Amino acid sequence: MFEWSFDLHLRVVFVRADLPGNPRIPAQVAHRIETPRRTTLTLKKANVEMIEHILAALAGLHVDNCEVWVDQPEMPGCDGSSQPFVDAILQAGIVQQNAMRDQLIVREVTRLGGEDSWIEARPVKTPEFSIRYRLDYGIGNGIGRQTAQLKITPATFRTELATCRTFMLKHEADWLLEQGLGSRAALTDLLVFDETGPIDNTLRFEDECVRHKILDMVGDFALAGCDIVGHFVAHRSGHRLNSEMVRVLLAEGQKVSGEQRRSA
Ligand SMILES: [Zn+2]
Repeated sequence: MFEWSFDLHLRVVFVRADLPGNPRIPAQVAHRIETPRRTTLTLKKANVEMIEHILAALAGLHVDNCEVWVDQPEMPGCDGSSQPFVDAILQAGIVQQNAMRDQLIVREVTRLGGEDSWIEARPVKTPEFSIRYRLDYGIGNGIGRQTAQLKITPATFRTELATCRTFMLKHEADWLLEQGLGSRAALTDLLVFDETGPIDNTLRFEDECVRHKILDMVGDFALAGCDIVGHFVAHRSGHRLNSEMVRVLLAEGQKVSGEQRRSA
């Protein structure tokens, strides 16, 4: 299914090996279209779906200049986490290049969303990317309220986020299966919660759900096409709002190229 290859001056580009001419779809927010519960990129007539956990793995490990060759539009869900992709990347090996990564720097406090779900970007004094996420599923289910904060580095991504799986409530899982979404995932592959907790499953972290929401943000923010420097506070934010923030930052943030950073 996967093949990783490297080419200078690319960032992350999906390549559809199964279509004539092998169309290329750069992992950039400009190519993102809104689809329910998954991230889809489209360019001309080619698309790739459910790319979020692959992007999170690549961004989390600071891998760019990478072509992701795929042979169908829907990416494998695996166990709903980024760990299988992290394993594949590490197995293929990461080549350190003699160039600095481009950065997008948050210049001022920027808030998007409404009262129920929102996301706020804040400038930072030290050059870091950190996320504080507040998850609130209300009461009467096994998820409830969880808050977590993490400075995202390749090391923390691997130890704190990569294994954290997609989760949902029982009625959401039933609905998804009815819609034929997630056709490549059986119910047993998913982390599904009823009133008491995960069904036939053991949590990898007590707060695995909120950690997965942070993993999702790392994947969504990867569509900036470069590193992001800033602190983000999110309350019940999802793929759509996260991507909107990326668009706003691309328009309003400070862009510093690798060359500029090198000569600074
Ligand atoms: Zn996810």
